[in-house]
This record gives sequence, structure tokens and C-alpha cells, in this order.
Amino acid sequence: MTITSTSAAVIDGKAFAEGLRARVAAIAASFEQASGRTAGLAVVLVGEDPASQVYVRNKGKQTLEAGMASFEHKLPADTAEADVLALVQQLNADPAVDGILVQLPLPAHIDEDKVIATIAPDKDVDGFHVINAGRLAVGQAGYVPCTPLGCLMLLKDRLGDLSGLDAVVIGRSNIVGKPMAQLLLAESCTVTVAHSRTKNLPDVVRRADIVVAAVGRPEMVKGSWIKPGATVIDVGINRISTPEGKTRLVGDVDYVEAAHVAGAITPVPGGVGPMTIAVLLRNTVVAAHRNAGIALAEGAI
Ligand code: NAD
Repeated sequence: MTITSTSAAVIDGKAFAEGLRARVAAIAASFEQASGRTAGLAVVLVGEDPASQVYVRNKGKQTLEAGMASFEHKLPADTAEADVLALVQQLNADPAVDGILVQLPLPAHIDEDKVIATIAPDKDVDGFHVINAGRLAVGQAGYVPCTPLGCLMLLKDRLGDLSGLDAVVIGRSNIVGKPMAQLLLAESCTVTVAHSRTKNLPDVVRRADIVVAAVGRPEMVKGSWIKPGATVIDVGINRISTPEGKTRLVGDVDYVEAAHVAGAITPVPGGVGPMTIAVLLRNTVVAAHRNAGIALAEGAI
């Protein structure tokens, strides 16, 4: 395609996430006053995966910055599954812990489904427990996975009412694609979920007022696939090599091309990425209120 000038507004997820974290901090402070205790998030990391170590470090740091308690449990890679399950049960029973996050992936000898199923649904701030997936599907209050909820917040901030819009979600993972589709359906979008077996993906994407790409394939979605004026949310985080022998992060969308066609687009990095931890903190402070039986005004956060 011929590229002339950039037309899309850049959706600044970094700035939005900062604002959200500030709101969480204010609510965490008022929770402490009302309850006499600090809202707390426990994070369990098994093994030494370098990316997971960075995520866990950032989660702990941002939890403390928001005025909440952070409980980090780092276990060696050869920890027995039974010991991980016992730790989760201990955290379920601990009144100082409002939210529990088990960092994925877990080492191969540990059954992730079993671990997630052991987390008390009302402390499952990642929203991965089947009870919370079910609550989302039927429209009950629960916990929604952080990345898609962050995408929805950016979309609503940009577009306001999403009702009646055509949305295409590319990717059907339990962590991003499926809950994203449920959230958009709950906002009365007409939702298409595309995946690796979808035929004529460019034509499917061309129908969309909202495109959410969560595939994990660098720059797969081309500018020519985007309907002019559409809002594009790029969840993908892919590290690619540059001709200079360095590496850089790109999304699942060809940003340079799409930015000439879309109405608005999230960059990578600085778009969806910063939202995930901010929403995790949001879910934790919501959990603290629910666990303590303290009302939190609808839409307060
Ligand atoms: P996943 O591998 O679990 O799922 C990928 C999905 O893409 C699958 O449902 C598959 O059907 C679909 N897919 C694969 N090839 C395709 C093709 N050619 N055409 C259409 N669909 C195709 O991945 P995930 O966990 O959902 O993550 C997706 C991307 O989002 C990754 O790049 C990941 O790093 C990123 N991610 C970012 C955040 C964040 O920003 N905080 C959080 C989670 C995931």
C-alpha cells in the first residue's frame, strides 16, 4: 500500500494506566481507613523464567506504589505440584490476602488447570478460574482477565458507547481472545472471533469498527485489512530482530501501515502492555472491598 501521512490517533495506554493506578491508590487508601487493614496481593512464581521474573518484580513494585501489601512467594522450578497447591490453599485462607496470582507458565510437571482451580474464585484477580469465566459468560460480577479488561477500558475511553459496533477479535485464547469477545458482547457489539482456521481473515477484519489482535505473530495484520476509521487494539508483544542486529518489540498489527487507515490505534510498546498490571491492581482493590463486605460504588474504578 502507498503510505502518505499518519491519520490515526495514538491510544496512550501508558498514560491511561498511570491514571488508573492513581485511582486505585486513592481507593486503596480509603479502603484502609474503612477496614483498618491494607488490601493485599499475593504472587506465586515457580521457577526462574526470566520474563516471568520481570513481570513478578513489576507487579510487586506497582502493588506497593499503590499503597497495597505485596506477598511474593518464589519457589524453585522443581517444587512438587502438591506443594504449590498447599501454598495456594494457605493463601486462600489468609485474611491479609485479597488477590492471588500464580504466574504462568508453570513448569511442565505442574498442572496449570489444577492450580488455577485451587485458587478461591473470590481471590482469583486474574479471572482465570472457570467460575469467573462462567460469571463473565452469564453477566455476573466476578473477576475478568486483566489484559482484555484493560483493552475494554481503552476502547470505552476512546469510543464511549460501543453498542452496535462490529468488533473482530483475532485470537481465541482463554486469557485474551475469549474473554475479550465476551466483554465486547456484553457491551452490545456484534462480535466475530477469528482464529488460526478462519477463512479470508483480511475480509473478516475489513468489516470491523473495532479490531482486537491477540495472536502472537509479528505485524500480521496489514493496513489494507483495516476499515478506514476503525479502532485498532494491538495486544501482541513480539520481539523481532532488526537489520542492525538488535531486537525490538512489535505488535500483531503492522503499525506503520495501519496508522494511516485506522481512526485510532494502540502502539507497541506503550499501548495495551501497561494496562495489564494496572487492571490487576484494580481487581485486587475491588476484591478487598468484596472480601471485607465494604461497598464500592459502581463505576468508581
Ligand atoms: P495464544 O498463543 O494463547 O493464542 C493465540 C491465538 O491466535 C490462538 O487462539 C490462535 O487461534 C490465533 N492464531 C494463531 N495464528 C493465527 C493466524 N494465522 N490467524 C488468525 N489467528 C491466529 O496467545 P495469547 O496468550 O492470547 O497472546 C496473544 C499475544 O498477546 C501474544 O503476542 C502475547 O505475548 C500477547 N499478550 C500480551 C499481553 C499484555 O499486553 N499484557 C497479555 C497477554 C498476551
